[in-house]
Amino acid sequence: MSEILFFAPYDLQLIPGWFWGGLVCILGLCIGSFLNVVIYRVPHEMSVAWPGSHCPQCEKPIAGYDNIPVLSYLLLGGKCRNCKNPISLIYPTIELLTGLLFLGAFLRFGLGFPPAETWGQLWREGNFVLIPNLVFIAAIIALFFIDYFERILPDVITLPGMVLALLLRAFSFNLVGIDVQTLGWVLGWNNVAWLVNPRVASLVNAVAGLALGAGSLWLIGIGYFRLRRFRLETVADLGEFLCERCVPGTTVRLRVRRKDRITSVYVEGGDFSEFTAEELAEMKFQLAEGGSPALRKTVLTGVTAEDITGGSQSGICIAEIPKDSIAAEHYQLQAGDVITHANMEGMGLGDVKMMLFVGAFLGWELTLFTLVVSSLLGGLVAVWRVVREGRQALQTSVPYGVMLGAAALLALFYGEQLIERYVQFMIRLQGNVPQ
Ligand SMILES: [Zn+2]
Repeated sequence: MSEILFFAPYDLQLIPGWFWGGLVCILGLCIGSFLNVVIYRVPHEMSVAWPGSHCPQCEKPIAGYDNIPVLSYLLLGGKCRNCKNPISLIYPTIELLTGLLFLGAFLRFGLGFPPAETWGQLWREGNFVLIPNLVFIAAIIALFFIDYFERILPDVITLPGMVLALLLRAFSFNLVGIDVQTLGWVLGWNNVAWLVNPRVASLVNAVAGLALGAGSLWLIGIGYFRLRRFRLETVADLGEFLCERCVPGTTVRLRVRRKDRITSVYVEGGDFSEFTAEELAEMKFQLAEGGSPALRKTVLTGVTAEDITGGSQSGICIAEIPKDSIAAEHYQLQAGDVITHANMEGMGLGDVKMMLFVGAFLGWELTLFTLVVSSLLGGLVAVWRVVREGRQALQTSVPYGVMLGAAALLALFYGEQLIERYVQFMIRLQGNVPQ
């Protein structure tokens, strides 16, 4: 009878750690293989389930034996079995990264099955740490690479992620970032009875993290877009700004020099996401002639403009504008206006929604850590790019979701220790100040 009991939870501890570690790592490799599909298809609103994997070059379906994470790439020498075109190195890299991070999470958090554990005990003690953390790691990897390649953070990951994070917090209240005492102290809730319940405390912590993370990014975002102005020197610059820099759903503010005063004209940023690269190139050309197809219909109908070049006077001069055009009526553009700068007023809310998810999972302290570290990372990357590419590099944006993702993973693994070291360092520093 003893072999029937072998898989009873209290016997799981008999299985050696290296076996579990290997299993979690292999699970990571397979999840990484699935994440490749997610990263490739979700931004284009394709199904992740159908059709099966196929070669992006020759479209031939990939057989199961050629779809083994990392191993198939090595065995095939990095080439498609059918068409012999090279397979991107990014696929095995994401698989390996996921496998290693899963293994790291196992080494860091353990299996989460204490000895003599039963499912009832798991619920009561909230000791169910590894699997929620693996789910979090997988979602962050997907968001990191989608933002890096496509510059968007899809709602279909961030919003269900937030709901899932709240559920996981309610179920497993021994996740990282739980510090009920500090939370109570910050909020002035000393000895509040219901905060003593760890499950409630975990959820309160999640909501606090979500509000702190998303709220602060939302506020910073408003300021950032107000400050970040782009200098427009040619009509093509305006086309590029509207086509490439504008996040769909934003308002664009054009700074206009009119006779001897500066005024602002607000136009709607376009949603150009459905256009292909060729169409965008074509559109830019047409805009230089007086308006893109989408814009011609709305903003710039019949408007002709010419570039003024020469030092501080440079800009786009509106040469001719029909009196009944929307540009004249609605946007109050006038002939002789010189458009000199453009900036976005609204913002894409992708980062904010990502922090709803990250904040809910990490709790308020590690959310603060994530915000600070991600902005430091952003600064470092900006400096590195300026050194490499010159000041021009500052004109193009760095996807912030990438920084947030990296910082969130650091927070998950080492956030608590790093915060504690920092606090102790500050206390020692204060102790050394002569009274
Ligand atoms: Zn192929």
